[in-house]
Amino acid sequence: MRRILLGCQVLPERAVPLREARGLVLARDVVAGSASPRFDTAAMDGYAVQHADIRGVSLQRPVHLGIVGAGVAGDRDITPVAPGTAVRIMTGAVCPEDADVVIPFELVESRGDQIVVSQPFAAGTNIRRTGEDIAAGSVVVERGTVLGPAHLAAIAAEGYETIEVVPRPRVAVIATGDELVRPGQALEPGQIWDSNSVMVAALVEQFGGEVVVSGCAPDDPSAVLAVLRREAADGADLIITIGGASLGDRDVLTELASDENALQCWSVAMKPGKPLVYGLLDSAVVIGLPGNPAAAFVSAVQFVRPAVVTMLGRLDINPPTIVARATELIPNPGGRRNYMRVLLEPDDSGWIARSAGPQNVANLATLSRADGLLIIPDGVEQVEPGERFDVQIVRSL
Ligand code: AMP
Ligand code: MG
Repeated sequence: MRRILLGCQVLPERAVPLREARGLVLARDVVAGSASPRFDTAAMDGYAVQHADIRGVSLQRPVHLGIVGAGVAGDRDITPVAPGTAVRIMTGAVCPEDADVVIPFELVESRGDQIVVSQPFAAGTNIRRTGEDIAAGSVVVERGTVLGPAHLAAIAAEGYETIEVVPRPRVAVIATGDELVRPGQALEPGQIWDSNSVMVAALVEQFGGEVVVSGCAPDDPSAVLAVLRREAADGADLIITIGGASLGDRDVLTELASDENALQCWSVAMKPGKPLVYGLLDSAVVIGLPGNPAAAFVSAVQFVRPAVVTMLGRLDINPPTIVARATELIPNPGGRRNYMRVLLEPDDSGWIARSAGPQNVANLATLSRADGLLIIPDGVEQVEPGERFDVQIVRSL
């Protein structure tokens, strides 16, 4: 994986509208152009009064104040509060001049054009002071932050429409195989519907990438090479191929692997998945996944996710992982690092994991049931019930 990441650069920053920035890394500090709130603001619906008028009031010694005006959020000019008066005011309205308390409706009695106050309030009650949330000139959100909904709100509250972020990598997904047919089209004998390209495209989007192309190509080396070169020339940052990466006849990526094409075949000590293709074409990183669906899925999580996350400028290179206890004896003949598809359940001591079904490399039913990938480390030939393992959570990748 380190070798893949060496080829992956953080993409150059770009301005995007706030609505497109969720999940992206902020490339520059956002500085508050003005204080927030921008003006002293009523924090409750009620009556704005002068604190001096209600000092020392009680049930026995209530105070009567005349209502002299009203204001709602958005009003420009609201009647000032003179001694002995009150202004009816709604949350979000500019606090009237000289008022320093807003008494909520439910804590005051109104009688015609007067209110009767019979309990004291501290000065400043229910008034949001200018700048108490964010001071002018302060950093609202720091560069490097992965932007979530609340960050976007804080930036919008300062009036910014666009911000500088690390953009999503543009990713092309190409399934290879003479047997593949697009779902929706009729099958001839020996053909199957292409299920990998939609799966890998969806994974890429889950990782944070933007899928610019997703489709099939035949097992024809020159045709596949032409597609790779075209996608690289069209500005893909990452090109994912699926299938044709092992040592069978017609394994098209394996055939293409050469120094001249800048493509290499690797054999990774893991299960499912083992063949992997890596290359650099212009400025595009090429990752070739194995074709069996479970192998393609597991390899995408281990190798495509870190590439996408690195290009996004994020630091969470490793997939989200929890620790779970195995509940059954699981043989792992050969002791290869094994990503087992498991179901997860909470119990008193944390999480427990059990097999989601047959672990066949082509088995999509088990894969679609799985909550996680339990990692049996290299060299472990058998898992004993009760042992603890890392589990990658597949639903929150
Ligand atoms: P390959 O890696 O090309 O040798 O393919 C291994 C197995 O995965 C074969 O049974 C293929 O038919 C199957 N396979 C390859 N690509 C896909 C795909 N895009 N969708 C579904 N199955 C595939
Ligand atoms: Mg094939």
